[in-house]
Formats: sequence, C-alpha cells, structure tokens
Amino acid sequence: VTQVGDSTLQELIDESCTSGSGSGLPFLVQATVARSISLIECIGKGRYGSVWRGRYHDENLAVKIFSSRDEASWLRETEIYNTCLLRHEGILGYYASDMTSRNSCTQLWLIMHYHENGSLYDYLQSTTLDHEEMLRLCHSAAAGIVHLHTEIVGNHGKPAIAHRDIKSKNILVKGNGTCCIGDLGLAVTHTQENNKIDLGRNNKVDVYAFGLVMWEIARRCVAEGMVDDYKPPFWDVVPSDPSFDDMKKVVVIDQQRPAIPNRWSADPILLLMSKVIQECWTCNPKARLTILRIKKTLNQLLNQPQCKKVKDTNKC
Ligand code: ADP
Ligand code: MG
Ligand code: MG
Repeated sequence: VTQVGDSTLQELIDESCTSGSGSGLPFLVQATVARSISLIECIGKGRYGSVWRGRYHDENLAVKIFSSRDEASWLRETEIYNTCLLRHEGILGYYASDMTSRNSCTQLWLIMHYHENGSLYDYLQSTTLDHEEMLRLCHSAAAGIVHLHTEIVGNHGKPAIAHRDIKSKNILVKGNGTCCIGDLGLAVTHTQENNKIDLGRNNKVDVYAFGLVMWEIARRCVAEGMVDDYKPPFWDVVPSDPSFDDMKKVVVIDQQRPAIPNRWSADPILLLMSKVIQECWTCNPKARLTILRIKKTLNQLLNQPQCKKVKDTNKC
C-alpha cells in the first residue's frame, strides 16, 4: 500500500495508472488525482475554459479545466500528450488528465507543470530584456517547436506534430528565463503514412506565427537605452478581437506584416533578428525558413561574443 499522504504528484499518478483506470484509457486516472488537488486561484482564461493554480501537498501545478461541452478539445490535448513522447524542456510538462465532478457538473482536467511567470504575452508586458535574455527566450521556444515538428522513428519515437496555434499566449516562461510551448489543443500529428503535403504546409504556418512571436520579443530588447512598448502583432490594423476575415484581409490579401522599428537597424543583434523574423513571415510559404534553421541561427547569435559584449556595455 502506498503512502499517498507523503507521495509526490508524479508518484500518485504512476500508482493510479499502474493499478488500472478501468476505462481502458491509461491516461485517465479517474478522479484520484483531481480529488487530491486543491484549486487556489484562476490564472488564465483561454477559448476553452479556465486555468487554475492548484496545489498537491506543497507542489504547485496548473490545472486547465474544460467544461463537458468542450470534451473534444480536452480529448485532443490529452491524446497528443499521451500518444506522443512529448517530454522535452521546450514543451510544457504534463502530469495527467482527469474527469471529475464538482457541484454536480462534469469537469475535464488537464494537469500540467505550473510556471509562475505565466505566458510570454503576460511576461513581455512588464519585462524588458537584454540581448542574451531575448535570444534565450527565442532559442528555447524554437527548440520546443523543433521537437514538435521532428518525427522520431522507432520504439520511443514520435510523429511529427504541427502546433497550429503558436502565439505568445500559448508559450510559457519558466523561472530560468527560457520558454516552453503550451496549448496543444489544435495540434495535428503526421506520420510517414499520412499526408506529407499537409505536414509541410502546417509547419510553415508555425514558422510564420513564430516570426510574429520573435517580433513581440525583440521589441522588448533594450539597445542603446531604447526599447519598444509591448504590442501584439497587427495592433494598429485590426480591432482588438479580430475576426477570421479581418486577419485574412490584412495578412493574406493585403500581405501586411508588422513594421520593423527603425532603432533595430542601429543594433547588430537586432538587425540580424529582423532578418530572421522577415524570413519567417515571407508571403511565399516555400521560402520560409525551417524551425530547425531558425533554432541554429539563434544559437549562433547566442554564442557570439558580440552578444555578451553588447550586453556588458548595456549594463554599465
Ligand atoms: P486555451 O486552450 O483555453 O487557450 P491555454 O492552455 O492557452 O488555454 O491557457 C490559457 C492561459 O492560462 C495562458 O495564456 C496562460 O496565461 C495561462 N496558463 C496556461 N498554462 C499555464 C501554466 N502551466 N502555468 C502558468 N500559467 C498557465
Ligand atoms: Mg491558448
Ligand atoms: Mg487552446
């Protein structure tokens, strides 16, 4: 008999899974886990429900709660985490999914690692960055997307996955200043058997969207004592909750892209960043970089002595 009282959440989950959930779905730990977690505060709201900070003994965790109406989304995200080997520092850590009843309503839970800095979107509102901090955020997020996009063949393999909802609200910032990719609710998997053409197309969409994310990050990088305010992409050309048609007109028909601030051209690192960003969002998807290429370029920038030198001058 396990001493549930002293176990960590991971131990409790492992125990619940090995003893069999009876549902035929190994990932459903059937209310055992949910019952032991207390919900402390609501920390986010997205399209499909709310995200809470929860506690299991003295561990913090994040609980994404879907209403039974949104079962399909919960199932999708649960399946992706359970059928694919997604343990990677660049991907939001997953504990378990659960079905529980609160106030006689069925709630569907997705239990994840908690990050107190919240989403990249929230973080950038109040934080300015030096060159190294900017590059660390970008490089770690790119590494997470590389892991998603890469098909790994073999026993411990994984299919290629396109995220299809890359944006700063779906990326979390860890305590060490790196990012991990969250919200896999729209992700799709591709294996060698199914359609390669779709895979290529979806991956290029992720790269386009990641270009916008890097633009949001780079605006917050201080160079020569100057920094840009936080702005979401297209803030100046679409209403605040834009419709699909609003976005289509601006991005696809008019082919508009966010402006690159003038100050970037005076800073060697920001100038290079602007080149990478523009190659992500070029109108011809075939001309876009691969996420692996982007990750490598960001790594080169991070390792440039120039990056640290610029940082040191900023500091004095
Ligand atoms: P949705 O699918 O409804 O968009 P998300 O998974 O994107 O839900 O989460 C919504 C918001 O909740 C995020 O933008 C973020 O602010 C917050 N959030 C989500 N997961 C975590 C987490 N693990 N740690 C801290 N905050 C989180
Ligand atoms: Mg989201
Ligand atoms: Mg979502």
